[in-house]
Amino acid sequence: MGQIDCLETEARDATFSARVKESSGINFDRCYQCLTCTLGCPFCFAMDFSPNQVLRMVQLGLKDRVLRSSAIWFCASCKACYTRCPHDVDIPRMMDALRQMALEAGVESKETSIPQLHRTFLHSIEQWGRQYELGTLLKLKLKTKDFFGDLVLGLKMLWKGKMPLLPPKKKGGDKLRDIFEKR
Ligand code: SF4
Ligand code: SF4
Repeated sequence: MGQIDCLETEARDATFSARVKESSGINFDRCYQCLTCTLGCPFCFAMDFSPNQVLRMVQLGLKDRVLRSSAIWFCASCKACYTRCPHDVDIPRMMDALRQMALEAGVESKETSIPQLHRTFLHSIEQWGRQYELGTLLKLKLKTKDFFGDLVLGLKMLWKGKMPLLPPKKKGGDKLRDIFEKR
């Protein structure tokens, strides 16, 4: 887990906190760092900064460190933190806004495979109207060049018919196009 240290040497963005508030609609000034969110987060073990640390860094304007962190990508939006927070701070919505900001700013994340999974997943929805798992998996393997990770699991899913070989029939073409054009 990372530490929020060396603050004197790191550039701060004075408008960052206000922009995250505006884009997420969350007022996180009420956070008093009780750590309840972090103690209940099922993915905290994999994050470089805990949810309460991400929130504190946003308040401090440490934009680069926040947008480059793996934490914003490991958050699964499970809302365990939000339901337990004594001040109703909606951390998953804040994480969502941070991911969007990272993508728009073209920030290179430490976790390159997760943003790639998001893009590949969305591309499959745009193309087929729903998820075509095998196509998504093959595209992701090509992008990440991780050809053998989860290979056994993938073969088991194919064998048990959990992952169809052919893509689904496309539905709702016009509506889908409208949704993706509005992005
Ligand atoms: S549970 Fe709420 S108040 Fe406590 S640290 Fe997390 S966000 Fe802040
Ligand atoms: S929503 Fe994200 S930060 Fe909150 S508990 Fe779930 S994984 Fe952790």
